[in-house]
Amino acid sequence: MTEQVSQVTMEEATYCAVHPDRETGLRCNKCDRLMCAECAVQTPVGYRCRECVRQHEDKFFNGTMADYLIVFAVAAVVTGLGYVGLRLIGGFLLFIIILSIPVGGAVGELALRLTGRRRGRYSGYVAAAGAIVGALAPGLLLAGQLVLSPTLLIYAGIVAFTAYGRFRLSI
Ligand SMILES: [Zn+2]
Ligand SMILES: [Zn+2]
Repeated sequence: MTEQVSQVTMEEATYCAVHPDRETGLRCNKCDRLMCAECAVQTPVGYRCRECVRQHEDKFFNGTMADYLIVFAVAAVVTGLGYVGLRLIGGFLLFIIILSIPVGGAVGELALRLTGRRRGRYSGYVAAAGAIVGALAPGLLLAGQLVLSPTLLIYAGIVAFTAYGRFRLSI
């Protein structure tokens, strides 16, 4: 009789912890919760539930609100000064495009140094936003209006993208 009961338990269908209507046998390899294919996240250490992945990221993301402000300010200042500098030296489109990559790298590196290499979940976006504001600011201050030249937009885009890349997770 007891044997029969355990037999039934073993064959009992199991369901996703988030979606009770989805049958699954897959478990998170950290917290052991059941999860369907949609809830499972493939990581280098196996399948995990979204909550465990998030917790893992939170441990990695230790940036504070003050760090975001520093990242934004650094990105805006370096990008703005960088553009003014490049215009003064040459100002050719190709020249600016090529040098916008190291400017973006400098934004990321300087921001990471000044914040003790802490990162927040949104540091990359903050750096990109700061770079775009910084690129547009000199024109706005000097001409009193938004100056949107293709060169400036390409420069802002590359710097923002490169700076954003420096803050991406590398796990
Ligand atoms: Zn889990
Ligand atoms: Zn699910």
